[in-house]
Amino acid sequence: MKKQLSRRDFLKGSAAVAATGLMSSVFGAEEATEALGAAEASEATEASTTSWDIEADVLILGAGAAGMSAGYEAATAGAKTVILEKSPTFGGTSIRSGGIIQASGTDVQKALTSYQDDTPEKHAQYYLQEGEGTLDEELVYDMTANSADHIAWLQSLGLEFIEVTGSAHTPMADESLYADRIHGTAVGAKGIFTTVHDAAEAAGVEFIYDTEATKLIVEDGVVVGVEAVQDGKTICAKGNKGVIIATSSIDHNPEMCKMLNPNQYYDLQNSSCTSYPYDTGDGIRMAAALGAQLSNFGGVIDLTGVTWAGVNRQTPVMPCFFVNKYGVRFECEDTTYALTARELWREITKTNHACYTICGPNESMTKEALDAMVEAGTACTAETMEELAAQIDVDGANLQATLDRWNKDMEEGGKDTMFDRMTGLAPITGPYYAFQEGFTNLGAIGGLKINVNCEVQHVNGTSIPGLYAAGMASAGWVGPFYPGSGTALLGSIHFGRKAGKLVAEK
Ligand SMILES: Cc1cc2nc3c(=O)[nH]c(=O)nc-3n(C[C@H](O)[C@H](O)[C@H](O)COP(=O)(O)OP(=O)(O)OC[C@H]3O[C@@H](n4cnc5c(N)ncnc54)[C@H](O)[C@@H]3O)c2cc1C
Repeated sequence: MKKQLSRRDFLKGSAAVAATGLMSSVFGAEEATEALGAAEASEATEASTTSWDIEADVLILGAGAAGMSAGYEAATAGAKTVILEKSPTFGGTSIRSGGIIQASGTDVQKALTSYQDDTPEKHAQYYLQEGEGTLDEELVYDMTANSADHIAWLQSLGLEFIEVTGSAHTPMADESLYADRIHGTAVGAKGIFTTVHDAAEAAGVEFIYDTEATKLIVEDGVVVGVEAVQDGKTICAKGNKGVIIATSSIDHNPEMCKMLNPNQYYDLQNSSCTSYPYDTGDGIRMAAALGAQLSNFGGVIDLTGVTWAGVNRQTPVMPCFFVNKYGVRFECEDTTYALTARELWREITKTNHACYTICGPNESMTKEALDAMVEAGTACTAETMEELAAQIDVDGANLQATLDRWNKDMEEGGKDTMFDRMTGLAPITGPYYAFQEGFTNLGAIGGLKINVNCEVQHVNGTSIPGLYAAGMASAGWVGPFYPGSGTALLGSIHFGRKAGKLVAEK
């Protein structure tokens, strides 16, 4: 028991300092300690006291895109590979997603989009510029440079990609960096991740379900396994070459969101999160207890709830505009959806007042559809802006001026002189409607800082030996707002495959 005393004390001390210190600097020590399950309580178990129930070379936590991609590569490289999955089945959020994946320079992209010339360099620069300076360049370049190989890998498993679309614009990234690079199949996420699961199982991966990893086990300062709860009993699982955390972000953990991600916390309180409910930040909490560096928290994968504005380059936003408490537009409504949603959320919280979408009947939302919303109590209608403004408690003169400016812009050539909007550029005529968007949340952003070898970084800047992370549990490659569809699955597959290969080859 005392054999590793000094190391153990170091880990215990560093866990407490790192985990609570990092968070308490922002939120207060008491809350930080509570959300991390208290550093003392979540301290890693010392391996010398452990008898192993499960033993593998590569031990993976979580059977989503990241975990299963890691498992496939580890088993294919000849390593005995086990995936512990908290829920009764594989797939996580990944198998419930849209199943579209960003990649640059693929054969499919070249064949289907010969009107453009995309490169991993442009793809990386696009992510970096939209990352508002917060991303790790090495991780981003590594991810885009290998993106075509990931599509080729999925093709080699029998999947066919049939369409390529592009992200809507943002003010942050140069127009030259956009490309149609979001790859889609006919079989969707279910087809993709069932295929990946079957391939991983055929390669020899053992999936163990209903098994919740709860605590990392450390030997001589190296992470060698986890404690997990199965059928109400605590078991111990060993990863001789390493443990890969692939348990996604803190999506459904209100306490962690409260401290680390106010936008996600707002969504949990005010709308709903559609990602897998088992994604409660467990891997992040376990690694934080060892002093792991947390990174890139704060962003969310959010869509505006009704119009789904900025969903991609190919889908225009309908003629409409958003107004704040003062009856004034405050953002470009057709930037990429998570940025549009972030600015809407910021405006709502900044003014402590609802924002409204203003429109007339149009091709996307017909008079019948809008009247049905009025009937259901989710929209209101009026013949004049003054009447509409009174119903939504905004300034009537401003609302009229906002409409007049919009319609003048449309009549004078269709240029949005306020925000350079690109789509839905048509006059708005009555009867007028107003409704609140709300948010459709697809998950939180933020996780464990990794280096380019997927090694989890300690707050002191070194790698935590034996500990790896991939997918949305890892951080550094996606930033303060979600830069467009297909990014999460690209990062999950990329860092998953990479971690699986590297750990197996150790
Ligand atoms: C409706 C929807 C549509 C989306 N569409 C797309 C899209 O088309 N393209 C795109 O790129 N992104 C999309 N996203 C986002 C993307 O799907 C996710 O961010 C991504 O799938 C996360 O992958 P992951 O492997 O990190 O996590 P997951 O796929 O969520 O896997 C994590 C797994 O870990 C398990 N787990 C959690 N805790 C533990 C524990 N303690 N022990 C053991 N196991 C544990 C979970 O049960 C889960 O199975 C979408 C999201 C949603 C909700």
